[in-house]
Amino acid sequence: MKITSAEVFVGGPGKNYVTLKIMTDAGIYGVGDATLNTRETLPAAYLKDYLIPCLIGMDPRNSEDIWQYFYRGAYFRRGPVTMAAIGAIDMALWDIKGKIAGLPVYQLFGGKSRDGALVYAHATGANLDALLDTIAHYQSKGYKAVRVQCGIPDMPEGGYAIAKKGEDAKHYITDFGLMPDEEIWDSEKYLKYMPIVFERIRERFGADLKILHDVHHRLRPREAAAFGKEIEKYNLFWMEDPTPADDQSALKLIRHHTTVPIAIGEVFNSIWDCKTMIEEEWIDFIRVSATYAGGITHVKRIVELAALHNVRTGFHGAPSHSPISMAAQAHLNAWAPNFGIQEYLVLGTKECGALFPSQHSMENGMFYVSDTPGLGVDFDETEAKRYSFDRRYHPIVRLEDGTMWNY
Ligand SMILES: [Mg+2]
Repeated sequence: MKITSAEVFVGGPGKNYVTLKIMTDAGIYGVGDATLNTRETLPAAYLKDYLIPCLIGMDPRNSEDIWQYFYRGAYFRRGPVTMAAIGAIDMALWDIKGKIAGLPVYQLFGGKSRDGALVYAHATGANLDALLDTIAHYQSKGYKAVRVQCGIPDMPEGGYAIAKKGEDAKHYITDFGLMPDEEIWDSEKYLKYMPIVFERIRERFGADLKILHDVHHRLRPREAAAFGKEIEKYNLFWMEDPTPADDQSALKLIRHHTTVPIAIGEVFNSIWDCKTMIEEEWIDFIRVSATYAGGITHVKRIVELAALHNVRTGFHGAPSHSPISMAAQAHLNAWAPNFGIQEYLVLGTKECGALFPSQHSMENGMFYVSDTPGLGVDFDETEAKRYSFDRRYHPIVRLEDGTMWNY
């Protein structure tokens, strides 16, 4: 069996999805997702200019060797561009493998460990009352776990992971501007206000709601340690990205001061980015994704390392992940003995469903993987013709005195 051609498409409804389609001489094809949010054309170019010419003629069944060929075989390894491109190839090869076997991909890992996978939604409020209403909205739809983000009073621009000024956001939507939007951040105001937010949430929704919160890399290690200690009594499901991930040992300081569960890793690209914090057991959840961390082959390896150290999964699932990478993660979630939770924010629009037809389903805050052979997601090339690349940026963050800070 041989790979005969591969094509990359960039575009989609509201997102620049980067979709790879690999064709074989057996008439079977596979699809993969290389969407590197706000830098989408780069993995697309890396695929077209460097990887696809090598892929032609390879046996698609040798997904491990092909992964090693593109990772180990490259002099300059790792990084989000490279790993998103390799990840898309890897997903497509697993899709092909499943179709050859006539089995959903999770069966090739060892079958299901559970029927439904717990997911969490994003509840964001420009202020506390708006946040509480948004949580109630998700609870009424059956969600058991919600990520809560709240506008901070007196924070310039509303400050923090919030939809455009003053809007009562029903979903977490970063403002992806034509040029980078600017947010102003003040850690002192945030640290004073967030415990009040958790207090009010527990008062209104009781002890059972699973509360997640994303610090979005905004704190210094000592601040994050003190914050974690202060909010222990609210029993969060996790505190996410307390500090920037570049410094793994910062997690050690946080861990030694608080029992609040720590989740990190959505910007990690390889097992080497998370190795120390997993082996030292400084974290509770690993947040890598099939797109940014080299596809199913590599993420599965990370999950297995994590399982040795009581670290559970909590894969990234921002709207920039196309239904293809979300399906790849859904198969891993169905299998992983150390599954924790899945972030799930696919743009569930009619247009998105038409571009990526699938039988996967969501019900009462649980994701159910379909039994269609392969990844269980298709890609409609006719629909794809409606879309083209549209450059967008994440916001940037500054402190009040103008100092650049971490988004
Ligand atoms: Mg996050």
